[in-house]
Amino acid sequence: MPPLDGPAPASASPWPAEDWRRELARAVTDLEELLSLVALSADRVDAIRETDFALRAPRPYIARMRLGDPDDPLLRQVLPSAQESASVGGYGMDPLRESSAVVDAGLLRKYQGRVLLIAAGACAVNCRYCFRRHFPYTEHRQDSNFPALEAIRGDSTIREVILSGGDPLMLKDSHFAALVRRIGEIDHVRRVRIHTRLPVVIPQRVTAALIDVLASLRQQVVIVLHFNHGNELDRDCIRALAALGRFTLLNQSVLLRGVNDDADALVELSERLFAAGILPYYLHMPDAVAGTAHFDVSEAEAKALHRRMAARLPGYLMPRLVRETPGKPAKEMLDSLSNFI
Ligand SMILES: *Cc1c(COP(=O)(O)O)cnc(C)c1O
Ligand code: SF4
Repeated sequence: MPPLDGPAPASASPWPAEDWRRELARAVTDLEELLSLVALSADRVDAIRETDFALRAPRPYIARMRLGDPDDPLLRQVLPSAQESASVGGYGMDPLRESSAVVDAGLLRKYQGRVLLIAAGACAVNCRYCFRRHFPYTEHRQDSNFPALEAIRGDSTIREVILSGGDPLMLKDSHFAALVRRIGEIDHVRRVRIHTRLPVVIPQRVTAALIDVLASLRQQVVIVLHFNHGNELDRDCIRALAALGRFTLLNQSVLLRGVNDDADALVELSERLFAAGILPYYLHMPDAVAGTAHFDVSEAEAKALHRRMAARLPGYLMPRLVRETPGKPAKEMLDSLSNFI
């Protein structure tokens, strides 16, 4: 083994600082353009143009979709479907009762020791299954003083600050650095966790400035990526993840009908994640959010899939199958493995 002589130097980003903002600005928001980029005609898909949750898909993500395939698992995650307007019993605007977890503007607290800071109100991609698609972001906008930090500073039981959104990496490097440095100054915070889909859809987001500010923190940094399918990991993604290799990298997926409700797909996802330096963390049951019922997978199917995965993967490549039930002290583990036989 090589001697331990202090932290390794920060890995370099392969991209210039402003590339990702250019990709953000060029993201596809027009249905016809998306369909033409993936060589599909409108009669092959059940897409709709009118929706209160706009189509939004960055081009580096679209480039990984298979041409001419209306069932492509990446396309399905971004294509507004006619099924979204179906009104389904039990599906609501705020099924996780997040409004009751708000402790301050932009700050959600559900679990002991950790708080979730809504650092940005938007995302680089609009995922059709999004559980926060109806979230009132405008009520939670943080100005550049990040007033929610005062509440964190005032509560020494908080060990971990989770930056979420929206997508916290939507903030410009300078703004993100200012936020992270101020969290870094709070003594009782031990970990900073970032939940993001930006390196998935625009790998160029992993800039040198982003790596440097995270590497400068006294706290441990955990980055939870949101990959749902192995086809999402292309060469640029793998380069971005390599540049983040000094941090703890975990992945959270949502189990989605027609996208990844298949043991082969989930096994391949775990394999590719690990090859890119990421450990699977959660496989989430979809939440009962209005407009997303067509993605639902039943609990029985989910457990069966999870068992099939377990029969093929080492334990450390198994994500925990979880569901969020409002009011519980933790995400609820759907224990599919205790009665394996
Ligand atoms: C999901 C969630 C967390 C994180 O839960 P972990 O089990 O620690 O991953 C924290 N805060 C809020 C408000 C959440 O919704
Ligand atoms: S990145 Fe996450 S928060 Fe943003 S639209 Fe997708 S699922 Fe929703």
